[in-house]
Amino acid sequence: MSAWNAEKKVVLEAAQQIAERGLVVGTSGNISMRLREPGGRELVAITPNNRYYDLIGVDDIGIVDFEGEHVEGELTTSIETMLHIGIYKARKKVNAVIHTHPVSSGIFSVAGWAIPPILDDQVTYLGGEIKVAEYSLPGSQELVTNVVPALGPRNAVILANHGALTVGRDMREAFVNCEMLEKTARIYIHALGLGKVDTLPAVAYEMEQAYFNYQYGESQ
Ligand SMILES: [Zn+2]
Repeated sequence: MSAWNAEKKVVLEAAQQIAERGLVVGTSGNISMRLREPGGRELVAITPNNRYYDLIGVDDIGIVDFEGEHVEGELTTSIETMLHIGIYKARKKVNAVIHTHPVSSGIFSVAGWAIPPILDDQVTYLGGEIKVAEYSLPGSQELVTNVVPALGPRNAVILANHGALTVGRDMREAFVNCEMLEKTARIYIHALGLGKVDTLPAVAYEMEQAYFNYQYGESQ
């Protein structure tokens, strides 16, 4: 049994949850977790490429190092492995990454519209405006180059014509952020349909962002 069995199980269960909750269709999406070896080396446990999440087991979750080199597992890891690694390198406090193809965030990914700060919990959980990273092919280095800065210090980003990505200090947080992003997108779509959107008052936005930065800021 792998020394990382418990961590692999967390990744597997989150992958099964995104499928069950309709945040992906089929084998799409990918999920990972940062691992720290006692010696200091950092690794990533990540879902395999192109597999139905209800048909895989704990041993099918792969482990790679920060160069993307295979460490454990029989299956090819996710096509977006280097994207996950890019985020772990840029965000020291992030320990879990969830990439999904949800419907409501997907609507903004197609329109290429950022979601402005419209809700209190959007800012305290996700960090404010949700940007749309410019389009690049799945699995490409260009995707990493576009997504990492569009995510910036926040916990959610939309990928143009593709999907969404959220992060957290642990898997639970990344998962909640995934649902928070989708809820925010859904509310924004309906408000746009009503024809009137009030963004958050500046005072609230500043206070909530200060709270977010205190929780998630890399200086902490
Ligand atoms: Zn994808």
